[in-house]
Amino acid sequence: MRLRRDYRGFTRGLRFRLTASYALFFALLLIGVATGFRQYLKTTLENQVRDDLNDEWVSVKGGYLRIHYDYTARKFFADWYYDETDKDETTIVGDIQKVFLITDGDGNVILDQKTGDRQVSTGYEDLGIDKPADIRARVREAVDASRQGAPGKSFWIPRRDSDGTRYMIRAGIQWDQNHQQPFYVALGESLADNDKVLGKYTVMTYVGVIPISLILGSLLGWFLAGRALTPVRDVAQAAQRISGSNLSLRIPTRQSGDELDYLVRTFNRMIERLEASFQQMKQFSADVSHELRTPITAIRGQLEVALFTAKTTDQYREAMFNALQDIDRLSQIVRALLLLAQAESGQLVLQKSRLNLCEVVEDLVEQFQIPAEEAGVRLTAGLPADCPAEVDRVQIERMINNLLSNALKFTPKGGRVQVVVNPAPDCVEIVVEDTGRGIAPEYLPHIFDRFYRVPGSGTAPTPEQGLGLGLSFVAWIVRAHNGKIEVDSTPGKGTRFAIKLPAAGVGSDTLELAGQPAA
Ligand code: ADP
Repeated sequence: MRLRRDYRGFTRGLRFRLTASYALFFALLLIGVATGFRQYLKTTLENQVRDDLNDEWVSVKGGYLRIHYDYTARKFFADWYYDETDKDETTIVGDIQKVFLITDGDGNVILDQKTGDRQVSTGYEDLGIDKPADIRARVREAVDASRQGAPGKSFWIPRRDSDGTRYMIRAGIQWDQNHQQPFYVALGESLADNDKVLGKYTVMTYVGVIPISLILGSLLGWFLAGRALTPVRDVAQAAQRISGSNLSLRIPTRQSGDELDYLVRTFNRMIERLEASFQQMKQFSADVSHELRTPITAIRGQLEVALFTAKTTDQYREAMFNALQDIDRLSQIVRALLLLAQAESGQLVLQKSRLNLCEVVEDLVEQFQIPAEEAGVRLTAGLPADCPAEVDRVQIERMINNLLSNALKFTPKGGRVQVVVNPAPDCVEIVVEDTGRGIAPEYLPHIFDRFYRVPGSGTAPTPEQGLGLGLSFVAWIVRAHNGKIEVDSTPGKGTRFAIKLPAAGVGSDTLELAGQPAA
């Protein structure tokens, strides 16, 4: 139902537009083909008439028509010379004489020798006898052509009679028997039959065949477009059922391996990513409120103690000291969250500079010697003399700081923590290894998540326990440096974090982040 309302009018629908384009293309194709064929038909029919006229012309020249000079009358006469008892010859001459004209070179119609008839048929008179000037010009042209060795020059003249019927005239010259004078001979044939055939074809094609084919073609197009778009509609309906609250739904693919399946798969992957982000956001809000609630409850408790039960100054002081500690933790969480949010939203820009990583590591290891001694843990460093890298010093220090403090935190007395820097041609490897309690394989994929603490490390957060944000930072810093992080851990034996950063001068996208990045 909703889907229908989403359509912006029928004519904007894909089905309509597909059908309309198809119908338009089909119409143009049909008209093009029909017009081409009509032209072909017209030419073929006209050629037929020309062939007939040529045949008649050959008959005339071949001997049916002779032109004599009569010395008594002192005139030229036409003499139709054929066997009047022969049916074929009579028919041929009869056909020729239907539309014909014979004049002298000046356009004067000559007479028949036997009958004395003017040598112009009524059919020809209806077309209008050619103007003397035209006749003179054509005769001259034909005579010139025959003098230049090209006899048989013919003229094709289209004409119309008083009813508008088209005629084709073939004109040329014929010499008298003594080859003294050229005479103008014109034979004609009606194109009425041609026009009738063409007219029938035109009406049948343009009024009958094309509109009917177009209607049938459009109906077929409408049906096919509808069939092609049905899966699209199904996909849209399935997509409509997906909302923020049921992102676990997926659109089923049709397993046809076509573009639509590809679209559906892409869409499903997008929903998967959305679901993961939604889930992370939900988890994050839950974690944040949980993390903030604990110190706030504690502060409230301390203040209540101060207000209702404390009597001596020392008791007040203690309650306030505890409250202050909780406030410290609160602001620590807020600061860390703010920093992480800035980092992940791209507001925290790395200030990279070329520096010797060994020096940085050495300084930090030195700083950690006192807490290590206090914890009874042996802290050592295996560093080469020089190890150049293009990194953000503050962030790299924060990264090593987090890894070292974790290592010390989770390594019992008598254990060992070692930091090693291994320079390779295109990257620098920093390894922080401890002999601590290790991380069980099922927890490993989550240690980079925000607020994640391995269960069993104590559910009630204490200041020394950490916020569960340290490794989220480590992951972001490694990612921001286009590096890669790997963790190996055996419960009860120890943990090894290995970070690879691109060496100074190496393209920044040569390495990628492995393991679980911060959400
Ligand atoms: P926290 O700030 O609480 O240490 P982290 O994000 O740094 O949080 O670490 C997440 C969890 O991973 C820790 O709570 C801890 O359980 C586990 N972890 C991190 N480093 C080590 C380590 N070196 N040895 C054992 N467990 C570790």
